[in-house]
Amino acid sequence: MKHLPDWRASAVCAQTDMEIFFPEKGGQTAPAKRLCAGCPVRDECLAAALEHRELGVWGGTTEAERARMRRAKAAA
Ligand code: SF4
Repeated sequence: MKHLPDWRASAVCAQTDMEIFFPEKGGQTAPAKRLCAGCPVRDECLAAALEHRELGVWGGTTEAERARMRRAKAAA
């Protein structure tokens, strides 16, 4: 079994419908982002998603937002 980082045990999304974190193209991301806003492991989640180029909403950000964050960091 793949080892999961400890922070995932505190993830709000672990107790919710994961489908809202992976909306269809052009779909709503606000419901997932609202849950992320109250998640105690948001920072760890965002860092992991930036590192591993995850799909969907992670750490309160969309894939496009994380791509912009990576580009901004690379340009700095
Ligand atoms: S920040 Fe959002 S996607 Fe990340 S663990 Fe928390 S609820 Fe899940």
